[in-house]
Amino acid sequence: MSDHKAKKEVVLEGIAASPGVAHGKAFLFLQKQVDVPCYDIKADAVDAELERLDQGIVQTHKEITAVRNKVAKSLGEGEALIFDAHLMVLEDNALIDEVVSDVRKQKKNVEFCFNKVVNRYIQFFSTVEDEYLRERVSDIRDVSRRLLHNLTGSKKASLSNLAGDSIVVSEDISPSDTADLDRHNLLSFVTDAGGKTSHSVIMARSIGIPAVVGLHNATDQIKTGDDILVDGYDGLVIINPTEERLFQYGKLATERRKLEAIYTTVLDEPSETRDGVPIAIMANIEGAQEMKQVASMRADGVGLFRTEGIFLRSHGYPSEEEQYEEYAAAAKAADGKPVIIRTLDIGGDKTIGGESEEDNSFLGFRAIRFCLENVDIFKTQLRAILRASAVGNVKLMYPMISGLRELMRANDVLKAVKAELRQEGLAFDDAMEIGAMIEVPSAVTVIDLLSREVDFFSVGTNDLIQYLMAVDRLNDRVAHLYEPTHPAVIRTLKQIIDGAKLEGKPVSVCGEIAGDPIFASILLGLGAQSLSLTSSLLPEVKYFIRKMDSAKAKELVQEVLGMDDAHSILLRLERFQSETIGDLI
Ligand code: PEP
Ligand code: MG
Repeated sequence: MSDHKAKKEVVLEGIAASPGVAHGKAFLFLQKQVDVPCYDIKADAVDAELERLDQGIVQTHKEITAVRNKVAKSLGEGEALIFDAHLMVLEDNALIDEVVSDVRKQKKNVEFCFNKVVNRYIQFFSTVEDEYLRERVSDIRDVSRRLLHNLTGSKKASLSNLAGDSIVVSEDISPSDTADLDRHNLLSFVTDAGGKTSHSVIMARSIGIPAVVGLHNATDQIKTGDDILVDGYDGLVIINPTEERLFQYGKLATERRKLEAIYTTVLDEPSETRDGVPIAIMANIEGAQEMKQVASMRADGVGLFRTEGIFLRSHGYPSEEEQYEEYAAAAKAADGKPVIIRTLDIGGDKTIGGESEEDNSFLGFRAIRFCLENVDIFKTQLRAILRASAVGNVKLMYPMISGLRELMRANDVLKAVKAELRQEGLAFDDAMEIGAMIEVPSAVTVIDLLSREVDFFSVGTNDLIQYLMAVDRLNDRVAHLYEPTHPAVIRTLKQIIDGAKLEGKPVSVCGEIAGDPIFASILLGLGAQSLSLTSSLLPEVKYFIRKMDSAKAKELVQEVLGMDDAHSILLRLERFQSETIGDLI
């Protein structure tokens, strides 16, 4: 009898985040908590135990100092201050003395005593009135986690070396975890936390693997080595699937492959509706290495080059030359088609190292806000992008713009960089187009003002929806409130596209909804000139657009604008899709 027959099948329900089906072995990737053992020690082993504590502290001190120096070099002394605070925790005699006295009195191992004392500190500081002291909690947490890893000898988990056919099961996966990901052996991932537009999900879609998020407690129920099946269409994770279940999913995969083959037949056809209205279908990428796939999907260029990937992969701030190579490679590979390079959108869920923890990171020191305060980093990137504009059709775009002043400040830096390049005799395209992402609600209302400073707009619906609806895009507890079909979202999209049209500026949509065929109808009906999406999803969207009638899409928009709730709008869009492509799905 096979293994999966012998064990009971368990079905977990989560959020369908990236489509597809995967069957493989679970790899539990736990990183948040360190397993702290508890055991008795003999009286004559106390000194050796305390010696372990000393060694752990020395080792941790060395590690933090090394990171501190790296950050000070690349970002400046100001940014390195956080690590001084970490070192102070480690040098806190009161804390260490308490641990020493606990080990002596209780005759328990040192990591257990340290953990107990530190948790008491964390509890105390979390409740004090003084904001400065309260903020020390995250420093204490960071340092204690590092010291506990060193004391227990447990390495910080990594996804860089997976066994074949692994399905990663984790509490959460951050963009920095995915930077070193072993993509060849990763079949799928499932997480307790997360929403449909978290950056790890975007990565899953881009490499075409299924993902289910928001499972709440998958990490309690799945063990490394478990046989699991992931259904990225319906958001299910099945532990120990039965033979019958595997057979059903096998059939589904075959049908899906047939559908993909049908979608692919339109790739060489123009991107336009049945009645000949053109709409550019562009690709979202995270690095020049994706340009082969972009070309094979016949994308009309790159509508969003998320440059953070380059920074995350290099675990720091890559030089102008490294960045130039990457941007120029993408620009050359695009062969005359546009490549819209977005300046660094660090912060939120993307951290490079050296950033301080923020309570509301998506509302905090992120994207253009970070760049305008770190002008050296910003200038290095602008120089690289401008130089790449000499070898291809490069455009530049700023993320998270919230008002005109911010945009003017960014353009002032750009002007200064152009002057530098000119003086150095380095080539660039002086007429390179500049765009702003519309992803903050305030930008929607002042789009007329922003028009003065840019040539085009691109709507980042992933953020726009989270800011408009006050729903954290990563938080599984409120994921049901993240509704792209909410009337507020539809009305806002209309306001953006109408507003930009009035100013004669083209609008693209580059958030995840652009890759969902059911939204193509309203985006086109509202008048978006282009969609930019993960290239693996391009064939299906193009197939749908080519079957669609533009007049019908406009009528659909009118109808939907008169509707009052997200669910009925969603059903209406689904019906429009099935009416458009007949019985294909
Ligand atoms: C968006 O917010 O929709 C977007 C495209 O940018 P990102 O997902 O990288 O925040
Ligand atoms: Mg965004």
